Amino acid sequence: MRKIFFTAGPSRLYPTVSDHIRDALRDDVLSISHRSQKFKDIYKDTVDNLRKLIDIPQDYNIFFLGSATEAMERVIENTVETKSLHLVNGAFSKKFFKIAEQLGRKPEKIEVPHGKGFNIKEIKVPENTECICTTQNETSSGVQIPMDDIYYLKKKNPDVLIVVDIVSSVPNVTVDFMKTDMVFFSVQKGFGLPAGLGVLIVSPAAMDKAKLLFEKGNSIGSFHNFLVLEEYARKYQTNETPNVLEIYLLGKVCEDMLKKSIKTIRSATEKKADLFYNYFDKHPEFKPYVSGNKSRSLTMIVIETPGKAKEIISQLTDAGFIVSSGYGAYKENQIRIANYPCSSIEDVKNLIVEFRKLS
Ligand SMILES: *Cc1c(COP(=O)(O)O)cnc(C)c1O
Repeated sequence: MRKIFFTAGPSRLYPTVSDHIRDALRDDVLSISHRSQKFKDIYKDTVDNLRKLIDIPQDYNIFFLGSATEAMERVIENTVETKSLHLVNGAFSKKFFKIAEQLGRKPEKIEVPHGKGFNIKEIKVPENTECICTTQNETSSGVQIPMDDIYYLKKKNPDVLIVVDIVSSVPNVTVDFMKTDMVFFSVQKGFGLPAGLGVLIVSPAAMDKAKLLFEKGNSIGSFHNFLVLEEYARKYQTNETPNVLEIYLLGKVCEDMLKKSIKTIRSATEKKADLFYNYFDKHPEFKPYVSGNKSRSLTMIVIETPGKAKEIISQLTDAGFIVSSGYGAYKENQIRIANYPCSSIEDVKNLIVEFRKLS
């Protein structure tokens, strides 16, 4: 029996991926030079399709990296000389903060308890903050920051660059890129692709900051600093030999999603999230971890299952459904269910049927 993955990531593959991999093999995509015209055409298609799908402005750069974690490092290296501010509410936002420390910066953080959202109006941005780093969808806790809160921060602090991690909410989340400076994701979550590609979207203001730091003589990194990334992106190339297959697959899946329409995908995500939350809100034993619609992630449903996570995961696995355990310390007492575009409303209903059998 083929298992259906509702895991945080890597997750279920988008249904068309196996056909695209077959086509890639047939068309020599895995053997061509990354300096060839054929590669440049693939690169351009991918960037064009992604721009169209999630509405990225023409003057924002799209850079291909190895992972989302790499994007965190590149953001700090290129745009923070001394101080970044991190909104910390779980493992991934914590990691971002730590990377800034490891790079020798002096980051500050505003931390809320695990599972809780931020009161954005109360956030005081310290003087001389260069960058505010946010994790829009905290995959470890299932807490989301509404995009309007992020725009509010930018509006209140127009001279500070704003960074948004959308790894586990893309392509569902609607981002007004003009109100952000750096947005990043990797592809093994909502895009339903194999792991191994990160995407970083960079505003003209963030490019200017990288140039400024470079001209001052600061180190902004080497082969993946923003200036080198831009130089190659202009030629539809990368400096290093990239993950050509992934760049190809991302372009193809964006094309499939465009055919379906992003609107259809987003409204299905909402419907599926409603199915999950309605079911668990009424459940006698297992409750959603995050309370309040404002902070509840649509794409990462975290459920409290005190002492029973292992047992539930094993029973669901026997029925053909793979869900994730709670993150880190929450492993025994929570499960996480990804609600990515790959799963249909029918899949969600079938998973809920299995939950009914458990209790
Ligand atoms: C998975 C995840 C990351 C890390 O992604 P990698 O591709 O493993 O680097 C970062 N942030 C969030 C919110 C994530 O869910």
